[in-house]
Amino acid sequence: MRYIDEYRDGAAAQQVARGIERVTSRPWTIMEVCGGQTHAIVKFGVDALLPMGITLLHGPGCPVCVTATELIDKAVEIASLPRVLFCSFGDMLRVPGSARDLLWAKANGADVRVVYSPLDALRLARANPSREVVFFAVGFETTAPANAMAVYRARREGIENFSLLVSHVLVPPAMEAILASPDRRADGFLAAGHVCTIIGYREYEPIAMAYRVPIVVTGFEPLDILQGIHLCVRQLEEGRAQVENQYTRSVRREGNRAAQGLLQEVFEVVPRKWRGIGEIARSGLGLKGPYRKFDAEERFGVAARRREEPTECIAGLVLQGIRKPKECPAFGERCTPEHPLGATMVSSEGACAAYYRYRAFPAGAP
Ligand code: SF4
Repeated sequence: MRYIDEYRDGAAAQQVARGIERVTSRPWTIMEVCGGQTHAIVKFGVDALLPMGITLLHGPGCPVCVTATELIDKAVEIASLPRVLFCSFGDMLRVPGSARDLLWAKANGADVRVVYSPLDALRLARANPSREVVFFAVGFETTAPANAMAVYRARREGIENFSLLVSHVLVPPAMEAILASPDRRADGFLAAGHVCTIIGYREYEPIAMAYRVPIVVTGFEPLDILQGIHLCVRQLEEGRAQVENQYTRSVRREGNRAAQGLLQEVFEVVPRKWRGIGEIARSGLGLKGPYRKFDAEERFGVAARRREEPTECIAGLVLQGIRKPKECPAFGERCTPEHPLGATMVSSEGACAAYYRYRAFPAGAP
């Protein structure tokens, strides 16, 4: 398959790995900030191909995982109201809130539906004018344009029974928070290619300069990731701190201007609470101006609800690269995909889910 098979070629991967080994003279730690990259690394054993001394850390690259507990509680509360038809992507249904999840709400009679696009939810709003249709708008800059389009069309068409429960988060401020932390361990970063397809990579340039850190925009297949690591290590060895683009088949420096225009029309930058990490200034998107009336938190009176994060789950440390999933005492014992304590164990992009799926048992074990 074009753009997949050639990026999973074992011989080519070995060759890039040898190239990394040739340029490496000392230990380096590199963080990827994308759950898709984390899963590819763990699934294909990318880390096992690297020379001793190159350590990969998994960053806060899974938007489902960083959705705050209090927002899940708000989703459960809204979904349980009479007349509400609550729409969500499938992997949000099992993300634990403080006591319940959306699957519990569905099992207890709430009308919770899995959709594949916010426009599916908009269609449901058109078809059910007597219902309140709410879409759970979760994601990084990647999914935000489609959600912006749904609200934009709702306003233009005068569809009043549609709203968004917004949980959009932005990658560059999170990367900056990690760089500014005293616990910082990463020497270089792999930035998520799909996010940069939308925003471009100009926003990363002042970050690379201010923190003297190389940032390589990278794709999602094993060979993409190895090439991204190669570029990153080369910069570190040469004492450079620049933004480079490995994912040239999708990303341009200026990004997708049409998508950016739509985001600016509908959203504004707001502070956002990240699960297990806390509030990060200017790290989220919220509806603005005439689109505020489509804000489900305001419409259903839950905006002011606050909830503390549970203490047993250390996903906040996992998401900042301070701990690896298997260093969590609950991993595979009290926390499994069937009985998750944290979102990183249930999301298809979660680091704990990746380690449980591909590395929970020694090779050959049942
Ligand atoms: S294994 Fe479970 S409890 Fe531990 S950090 Fe991951 S999601 Fe949280």
